[in-house]
Amino acid sequence: MRHGDGSAHLKHPELNAAAALALDRRDPLAGFAAEFHHPFDADGRKMVYLSGHSLGLQPRSTRAHLERELADWARLGVLGHHQAKHPWIGYHEMLAEPLAELVGARAAEVVAMNSLTVNLHLMMVSFFKPSARRNRVLIEKSAFPSDRYAVVSQLEFHGLDAARHLLEVEPRPGERALRTDDVLSIIEREGAHLAMVLLPGVQYLTGQSLDLAPLIAAARRVGANVGLDLAHAVGNTLLELHDWNADFAVWCSYKYLNAGPGAIGGCFVHERHAHRSDLPRFAGWWGQRKSTRFDMGPEFTAIEGAEGWQISNPPILSAAPLLASLDIFERAGIRRLREKSILLTGFMQQLIEGLLPEQVEIITPGASEERGCQLSLRIAKPAHEAKRCHDRLTAAGVIGDWREPDILRLAPAPLYNSYGDVFTAVDLLSRAIRP
Ligand SMILES: *Cc1c(COP(=O)(O)O)cnc(C)c1O
Repeated sequence: MRHGDGSAHLKHPELNAAAALALDRRDPLAGFAAEFHHPFDADGRKMVYLSGHSLGLQPRSTRAHLERELADWARLGVLGHHQAKHPWIGYHEMLAEPLAELVGARAAEVVAMNSLTVNLHLMMVSFFKPSARRNRVLIEKSAFPSDRYAVVSQLEFHGLDAARHLLEVEPRPGERALRTDDVLSIIEREGAHLAMVLLPGVQYLTGQSLDLAPLIAAARRVGANVGLDLAHAVGNTLLELHDWNADFAVWCSYKYLNAGPGAIGGCFVHERHAHRSDLPRFAGWWGQRKSTRFDMGPEFTAIEGAEGWQISNPPILSAAPLLASLDIFERAGIRRLREKSILLTGFMQQLIEGLLPEQVEIITPGASEERGCQLSLRIAKPAHEAKRCHDRLTAAGVIGDWREPDILRLAPAPLYNSYGDVFTAVDLLSRAIRP
């Protein structure tokens, strides 16, 4: 059972600007758009920003959060570790509760640290422990390249050959989305040899949101560890990491979490691993038990919970913007955002299907519970002409992104995008396709 996505539908709205305006007037979250900076083009016109899947917009409150840390550093120097308004020693602790709320976890299961791929490596140190018999890793065929590089390099680090030990599941010929049943059958077939399964929350290219609960359960049943890459899911779909029982999850916070380029990433480690001292891990002083950290002794005893995987003291200037953004998420509420997101993306789907039925193929699954906010589009033209449509769309003031060879990704973010944005974007897309 998929949960929480409900069955909200837009009942055949008119496909025009007036309908979009009416939907915006009824949107209880409409006010949040004004809490963000929206990019302008060279002529000073506000652009329609549909690239929150790549880099979220800057909250207006970010600057104050950063300036406070700069001021405390200027005023206090090293004393800021304890005397800053938000003492730096425990700065990351303020992030755990709101992050846990977003990913459906307990605060002790979550930590803000490093960046996504670094966290994936650290998690694999603990949760990819190949044995003579159980030494294969299952990922998806079109996984984000960084994930694939990380997994292959971990295999090689253990002396294993990716050609034999990396398994990749892909959509059936002629299909765009992965089928849950196909992933399940590989997990069952390879069960005795699987050391780890790594799954995306939302697939970055197609926008497909996987039905994670049964996949995680199946992987655990066969004795494999399970990790999740939530880069495109956190702040986008509803997640229940604790109940789903994944071993670990990693994410970045510069996409839907709006924490700025290169912002501090996040990591989840399930509570059942909190007290384990038998797991290998790469240690550093910030994972050392807090009561003895500053005794500067030779013995490492990990903090119980996700914090025990920290290595270095966290970058405060990259964590402050995340705090600004999480405050907005707390006020908007991830469930209300998801409700709006289903309607907003549903509106975009109806517009595209209504206005560009022959010209555009939506490769993202059509059912709201099988996607987040992003729609991935294929423009039915030869590749170089399709790319020119994207260039014209950008010139007309819509920021989406192009993924070679032929995918245009548009992601209306419910926190700062309106139905009007979506209408304008599809209207300009239809002009870009039929100049
Ligand atoms: C964006 C993204 C990343 C980015 O990795 P970094 O380590 O933060 O640079 C990794 N995996 C996926 C699936 C992504 O979408």
